[in-house]
Amino acid sequence: MDIRYKSTRSTMVPIPASQAILKGLSDDGGLFVPERIPALTCSLRELADMDYRQVAYEVMKLYFTDFTEAELRACIDGAYDSKFDTEVIAPLAKVEGSYYLELFHGPTIAFKDMALSILPYLMTTAMKKNGEDKEVVILTATSGDTGKAALAGFADVPGTRIIVFYPKDGVSAIQKRQMVTQKGKNVAVVGVEGNFDDCQSGVKALFGDEALREKMARAGLAFSSANSINIGRLVPQIAYYVYAYTRLLKEGEITDGEYINITVPTGNFGNILAAYYASRMGLPVHRLLCASNENKVLYDFFATGSYDRNRPFILTNSPSMDILISSNLERLIYELTGSDPQATADFMKQLATAGEYHITEPMRERLAVFYGGFASQDECRQQIARIFDECGYVMDTHTAVASTVSEAYRRETGDAAKMLIASTASPYKFAPSILQAVEPDFAPAQNVTDTAAAFSCVDELARLSRMPVPAAVSELKDAPALHDRVCHVDGMRTVVEEILSLAI
Ligand SMILES: *Cc1c(COP(=O)(O)O)cnc(C)c1O
Repeated sequence: MDIRYKSTRSTMVPIPASQAILKGLSDDGGLFVPERIPALTCSLRELADMDYRQVAYEVMKLYFTDFTEAELRACIDGAYDSKFDTEVIAPLAKVEGSYYLELFHGPTIAFKDMALSILPYLMTTAMKKNGEDKEVVILTATSGDTGKAALAGFADVPGTRIIVFYPKDGVSAIQKRQMVTQKGKNVAVVGVEGNFDDCQSGVKALFGDEALREKMARAGLAFSSANSINIGRLVPQIAYYVYAYTRLLKEGEITDGEYINITVPTGNFGNILAAYYASRMGLPVHRLLCASNENKVLYDFFATGSYDRNRPFILTNSPSMDILISSNLERLIYELTGSDPQATADFMKQLATAGEYHITEPMRERLAVFYGGFASQDECRQQIARIFDECGYVMDTHTAVASTVSEAYRRETGDAAKMLIASTASPYKFAPSILQAVEPDFAPAQNVTDTAAAFSCVDELARLSRMPVPAAVSELKDAPALHDRVCHVDGMRTVVEEILSLAI
């Protein structure tokens, strides 16, 4: 059955998936959503006998209905291959009765690889299908992990260019090194004097800049997005929740149809929205736990029905979740309004002008499947240390937010349903912060920006944990820095014009 995509902010003629992927964001500033959320067509038992690529196909074919089977399978086979360091792609680790879904076995060791390894294939296929002769320029704002995963995915992909904006002082030393050492003729990396929200708002403004769009078109260029606002990122993320559930079923950890809980360490609300879509497709999910760090705007939203970004931006040891404007929440708001684009546009306007909005009582009632929690940096350090001491399992600081929240939830509610925890990064990506938890005497100050110090932490973590250092980290040590561009928030447009050699 054909599924088309419409905007959360206006009534428009719905467009096919391939066009929504190419555009990234709707011209009215809204996000693309499927006309309806499809139900799984295979039984959970059938899915349990499939491998990752097959499950991914069974999920994605229901959304990307204008791709042929051959096209979609080629995209999936190109993405989920030996770039991942394990054949199962997303393994599960059972620790203290919870199941950690390790989404960090891809080329840049964070969960963003799960979607960004396939997005370039989806996009180039979509270009061919639509006879798109313009070069696609991917503009990306990153809190640290998206940037590298997108660069790795799009580097030297014909017909594409990519420009990544990251908060200059808001990412870990390893994250920064990952980005500034990126090779490729079509890549640019720019540090912004601001935080992630500044980068994201700046990129959104560029998308909405009609004069710039026209100038680009004349030069044979068109923007698209690799951020989780692109439906081409959201859909591939649904697959691993279906995969994880069916692995638990296959291994006899749960019975067919048993309801589970899922905890997701959340920033931009993309990963947890994918879990929500999975539940709406028929995956038996009792509760979705949205775990925030000290930037707990989502926790407050679930507690009060008010979204309020007017607060200090806190730099934490889980930098990829340091976000006050969770873009993908817009897709949920749209659902809660009963698919009302006018109401959604009004809420988003309030967010843009006053920095806050308040949803209605009937909308709140539809949020029952969600539970909001948050964890402080101290709590996360304690959780990392305790689990390492008692179980020998090392988790990263983002995963620790989820782990802490899921434990508090269990204590608070007595809910004994099996718990799946999305594990979103390798601990090596944040080695100084991990050492601060497990060996505070060794570790330098957190959020260390000094590369040499970060690498000494990597070596020490390897010694303590006996986990092999991923190639994605070890090869950074001696790689030359290739990008040193820095700009102010209000200089982002000029930088883009320079990089693309657009006449001013
Ligand atoms: C991006 C990221 C998150 C947050 O995911 P969202 O989809 O933005 O909610 C959590 N952990 C890590 C390691 C990330 O890179």
